[in-house]
Amino acid sequence: QLYNQVQDLKGTIRVYCRVRPFLSGQSNVQSTVDYIGENGNIMIVNPLKHGKDARRIFSFNKVFGTSVTQEQIYNDTQPLIRSVLDGYNVCIFAYGQTGSGKTYTMSGPDLTTEETWGVNYRALRDLFQIAKTRADMINYEVGVQMIEIYNEQVRDLLVSDGSNRRLDIRNNSQLNGLNVPDASWIPVSSTRDVLDVMIIGQRNRAVGATALNERSSRSHSVLTIHVHGKELVSGSILRGCLHLVDLAGSERVDKSEAVGERLREAQHINRSLSALGDVISALAQKSAHVPYRNSKLTQVLQDSLGGQAKTLMFVHINPEVNAIGETISTLKFAERVA
Ligand code: ADP
Ligand code: MG
Repeated sequence: QLYNQVQDLKGTIRVYCRVRPFLSGQSNVQSTVDYIGENGNIMIVNPLKHGKDARRIFSFNKVFGTSVTQEQIYNDTQPLIRSVLDGYNVCIFAYGQTGSGKTYTMSGPDLTTEETWGVNYRALRDLFQIAKTRADMINYEVGVQMIEIYNEQVRDLLVSDGSNRRLDIRNNSQLNGLNVPDASWIPVSSTRDVLDVMIIGQRNRAVGATALNERSSRSHSVLTIHVHGKELVSGSILRGCLHLVDLAGSERVDKSEAVGERLREAQHINRSLSALGDVISALAQKSAHVPYRNSKLTQVLQDSLGGQAKTLMFVHINPEVNAIGETISTLKFAERVA
């Protein structure tokens, strides 16, 4: 059963849509989500429009409503994690406007409560568990990197002065998905090790943010997990790479309002998110030319997007009426890559 699921995901791009619940304090509020169908359909109602123009259906591989738990979200992701141990490269993205639930899906609301852990921790916990069940056949080593891409510059999140040092991207098939070879590389052997690393990464991200205030919404963070397995009998080596990407907020910034640094950030974000969309839709259409070179993000992920690699994009929706414009543009972006 699991094997079939993995085969099914091979070389494909999947898009899941997740609707954020209304936050506490908001009750009896109008939602722009009219209904969620069984088969990956979601109907959006635009309160600013009337008649048949007001409703529109979008289709994805799956749609998760507001009551879906972190565990249920992860259950549909798990086959991809297993395939990393089989030697595949996998990218999992969280896309959406700021406040739509990207960090909630990837990391969860806090590190201390296991029940609400996001995809990141569950994925690593599973990697170690599955590796253990294979210990008499394959010896696995796992290491992590954590970088941030801000204004088209790559920074190491695992060193405290990382925000000052810009890192180069090198695309070289021998690097096996580790295209930022100068970023810190931390070997991990337990979920506890991973939590420690992530705490460091989050702290360094926050430090950089004091000057620019809430930088996390304006940078992409990429957690890369690299798996190196040695088959004990044959001695052959397999390598797999998992990239967990919490993208910068996709909201369009009003050009008349943003100036200076804020405008520059917005332009970098818009450009890199469209570059990502272009790459994924070129792959989905099996286009001969895939434009990886147009952003740092797609360069970093180049050999984990396309080919035998597997991609999962979570697109996040904020159901509030005042988010309708961003909701529709998010769903259009997602439809283009699906
Ligand atoms: P983003 O990373 O896209 O800016 P966050 O993940 O920080 O958004 O979510 C914004 C707020 O909504 C946070 O307070 C978060 O805890 C809450 N939230 C997001 N998704 C959910 C969810 N599925 N269930 C409960 N609360 C959520
Ligand atoms: Mg966030």
